[in-house]
Amino acid sequence: MKFSNDSGKRWVPKVMAGGIQLKSSEEIEAMYRANQVVAECLQRIGEAVKPGVTTADLDVIGHEVLKKHGAKSAFLGYPNPSGGKAFPATVCTSVNDEIVHGIPSRATVLKDGDIVSCDFGVILDGWVGDSAVTFPVGEVSENAKRLLDVTRRSLAAAIEQVRVGNRLGDVSHAVQEVAEAEGFGVVTDFVGHGVGRKMHEPPQVPNVGRPGTGVRLQAGMVLAIEPMINEGTPDVRTLADGWTAVTFDHKLSAHFEHSVAVTSEGPRVLSAWS
Ligand code: MG
Ligand code: MG
Repeated sequence: MKFSNDSGKRWVPKVMAGGIQLKSSEEIEAMYRANQVVAECLQRIGEAVKPGVTTADLDVIGHEVLKKHGAKSAFLGYPNPSGGKAFPATVCTSVNDEIVHGIPSRATVLKDGDIVSCDFGVILDGWVGDSAVTFPVGEVSENAKRLLDVTRRSLAAAIEQVRVGNRLGDVSHAVQEVAEAEGFGVVTDFVGHGVGRKMHEPPQVPNVGRPGTGVRLQAGMVLAIEPMINEGTPDVRTLADGWTAVTFDHKLSAHFEHSVAVTSEGPRVLSAWS
């Protein structure tokens, strides 16, 4: 699908109601390239995750991949919305009961049976890529396996709804339906988002919703869909570091995220692993 700003030298965003920016096919290609840097990093992190590795080691991989591609981190130095210190790393590493925004540390040594959620974001040629995966460390419990499987499936079900003419509520509901059918808690304190020149653009993409409600999807929208699913209740608390969100009941939490373009041919997962 072609848009009026496909060939322009100056970037003129095509903006629909609610401030949602539609991307041209060229712009979606540029976002694909940014997201493929993210995918490469997450793949490398997945290969590195094992007992004895620290979360700081995973951040080193983030720095290496950024350098290799001449990309900038979308996370490093990101301002804290509640006024604390800026985010100090290139990867968010959230272990076990940590939901999102965990800070890599040499003191956090991964051990057999842990799960670690890794979220990575880059800026390449002015476009943001954003994706996340939760990895098992060594041999994990049956419940942890089920949580990872259900969270991955809830994202896949949501992506399946990313079609022209569907509504945002269809996407949100797909996550909720898969997770709640398994008795898991869907986090509502954090949401997915539109993505483009900025990491967080309208619309917000909640992980709960009613089918047939909300913004109607149009070709050129790009959504970062990111279910955060808890083994127990959806309740959240933030640690004293001002960033790390943990489950209130200290049960496990998993997080998977893809950046997905709405196209006339259906969903295009820009951050898919090649
Ligand atoms: Mg992310
Ligand atoms: Mg995101």
